[in-house]
Amino acid sequence: MERLEDFDITCVLAENPGPFTLDGSNSWLIGRDPCWIVDPGPPIDSHLDRLAGEAAVRGGVGGIAITHDHADHSGGLEGLLERVGDVPVGAAAVSRASELLADGDDFGPLTAIATPGHAPDHLAFLAGEALFTGDAVLGHGSVYISPDENALAGYLNALDRLIALELNLLCPGHGGPIFGDEARARLIEYRDHRLDRERMLIEALEGGARSSDEMLAHAWGDVPAILKPAAEATLAAHIDKLAAEGRLPAGAQRPDIGEYGGL
Ligand SMILES: [Zn+2]
Repeated sequence: MERLEDFDITCVLAENPGPFTLDGSNSWLIGRDPCWIVDPGPPIDSHLDRLAGEAAVRGGVGGIAITHDHADHSGGLEGLLERVGDVPVGAAAVSRASELLADGDDFGPLTAIATPGHAPDHLAFLAGEALFTGDAVLGHGSVYISPDENALAGYLNALDRLIALELNLLCPGHGGPIFGDEARARLIEYRDHRLDRERMLIEALEGGARSSDEMLAHAWGDVPAILKPAAEATLAAHIDKLAAEGRLPAGAQRPDIGEYGGL
């Protein structure tokens, strides 16, 4: 089981590469007669044409699941519905869903798993031993955490639940698929990465760092300049977690992340 075909899954990669989207956004098709789609991807006509074409080869679309309401994942929804017809749309994002999904809900062959952190409405989808992770876990690199109440604690809890699953395949929102034992290893790597950042942040605070630049320099020093806004947002999520746990020293500055919504 080292190929997507063994799982009857296909990836259609959108032409929107970038620092946050890696090679581009992945739209996934599962099964056939009908197939089910995870994430329409961005509103790029050529991408939606290819996705609809692949779906037609697979005997049409049973439904479209959305991992989270960011433009690079859900922006193509209207365009895709125009191409494949008015099929059910399963999401936790109220504005997108014809079937509002919550943790544990089934949507065709998919089971929704709440995975907040990158976005409050984020869902992963489980189909057999395949897990569609959206932006909760990527093919490579790490994700940014969008700070809102309990975002990081919720994210770590979700990762622990995913790690406990019987998995043979990860299908991320960006980057290539991950097969076999590597799937679980990748999830553990993501959890450990977050815990490492927290450890480095606590070290910085114990060393007297209070400004967000000092904390970033110590705990996110390896992050390229173009990703600094994402690192700041993630730092804010870490600070919120420490504050909620009563572990944040007085005077520590939460970065002003303004309107940054990221991707
Ligand atoms: Zn994304």
